[in-house]
Amino acid sequence: MSYTKRVLEQTLANNPNEPEFHQALTEILTTLQPFVDANPEYEQAGVLERLVEPERVILFRIPWVDDAGKVQVNKGYRVQFNSAIGPYKGGLRFHPSVSLSIVKFLGFEQIFKNSLTGLPIGGGKGGSNFDPKGKSDREIMAFCQSLMTELSRHIGADTDVPAGDIGVGAREVGYMYGQYKRIRNIFEGVLTGKGLTYGGSLARKEATGYGLVYLMAEMLRRHGKSFEDQTVAISGSGNVAIYATQKVQQLGGKVIALSDSNGYIYDAAGVDLDAVREIKEVNRGRISEYLNYRPNAVYTETRSQEAQTTGSIWTVPCKIALPCATQNELHETDAKTLVNNGCFAVGEGANMPCTLEATEVFLRNKILFAPGKAANAGGVATSALEMSQNSARIAWSFEEVDQKLQDIMVNIYSSIATAAIEAGCEDNFVVGANIAGFKKVATAMMQQGVI
Ligand code: NDP
Repeated sequence: MSYTKRVLEQTLANNPNEPEFHQALTEILTTLQPFVDANPEYEQAGVLERLVEPERVILFRIPWVDDAGKVQVNKGYRVQFNSAIGPYKGGLRFHPSVSLSIVKFLGFEQIFKNSLTGLPIGGGKGGSNFDPKGKSDREIMAFCQSLMTELSRHIGADTDVPAGDIGVGAREVGYMYGQYKRIRNIFEGVLTGKGLTYGGSLARKEATGYGLVYLMAEMLRRHGKSFEDQTVAISGSGNVAIYATQKVQQLGGKVIALSDSNGYIYDAAGVDLDAVREIKEVNRGRISEYLNYRPNAVYTETRSQEAQTTGSIWTVPCKIALPCATQNELHETDAKTLVNNGCFAVGEGANMPCTLEATEVFLRNKILFAPGKAANAGGVATSALEMSQNSARIAWSFEEVDQKLQDIMVNIYSSIATAAIEAGCEDNFVVGANIAGFKKVATAMMQQGVI
């Protein structure tokens, strides 16, 4: 049995009941197999065995008091996966579905993603099964402070620098930053995605969505296409989806559908982003409220039992699909529907939104498919730019950061396209991203010895 296959089988067996981690492992190790097995130095150095095992996993209790005076307890996680090329870096997610499996899959992906940015950042991820929906500001603050009371022992500007993710935006980062500073008595860039008054970077908020569209625009350009006049469906209506929508619109594309976990809206005239931002960023409301602003739009419920037959957002015919909500939100049947409807490009704004089977459908049908670890790397790349600004005690203009982000995304496209060609599978950007991300980390691990 090949080295890669053996490590994959052992790792799956050693980590039972972690389906999302298994999925990420399977995708990455399977695509790396020909490359790794052709280069025996990786086996000699035990690179894969070390890569699949997190350097450190921190599990902790988060007690807090709700507005009714009742004690609540949530689970806290931080997986410090790999620091071969820099301090651990990756977001914190607050969502009831958060588990060790989800945090490990995200942390594992993050190693390769961060490597692809070309910046000195290792891979990590964390979060809690806390559900921020419906909580008061005071409850959010109490929770964030309690989380940071424990997490502050394990992180630092040169050790581990968390950021936001699902359910964690500027408000939560602010509360966590304040508590870190209070406990450690250090004003340092320990979190990214901070407010602009205390060390945040311009364009960080926009970076993941913009970066996704920059990478897709470059991919389309190299294939004689563009966003101009194309219909685009985007799932989610959070941070990534909103700024992907904005950039698509700026490039002349027409975003016709957005969603949240309850349902999706279809607006044939093109979505009114100001309305969406007011609903989501100001009122923290539901996407169904969009009909109050645009009565001609159509809302389809997807969460309820009877809605299971109406299909997902991916039944909306579009030329370009950008899944920007969560993992495993786009299944094999959705992929087939998209292909049958003439969709020619898919970019993963979320982490692992397409199942393995859906990805296979896209690759088989020669759809231009950008995997998340390349397509959504603009967020973490700009977080690394925020770290640089914090260390140097300077602040760049929006235009400076945005230009650096564009350059990074174009470079990522070039490196994944080149790696795919070198591996003999041109335009398979899944293979390209995994090999390009792996090489740098593996080399650093070998140079640093068996640690
Ligand atoms: P937000 O919390 O801002 O938004 C998440 C969106 O996805 C919401 O519209 C939410 O709907 C929807 N969603 C979340 N969970 C589910 C679910 N189980 N089923 C259906 N819809 C769901 O998060 P972000 O926009 O920051 O993150 C979105 C994705 O992008 C995640 O996969 C994240 O890991 C990834 N990502 C984010 C980066 C960032 O910088 N923020 C960087 C790189 C990747 P609802 O409000 O109803 O829950």
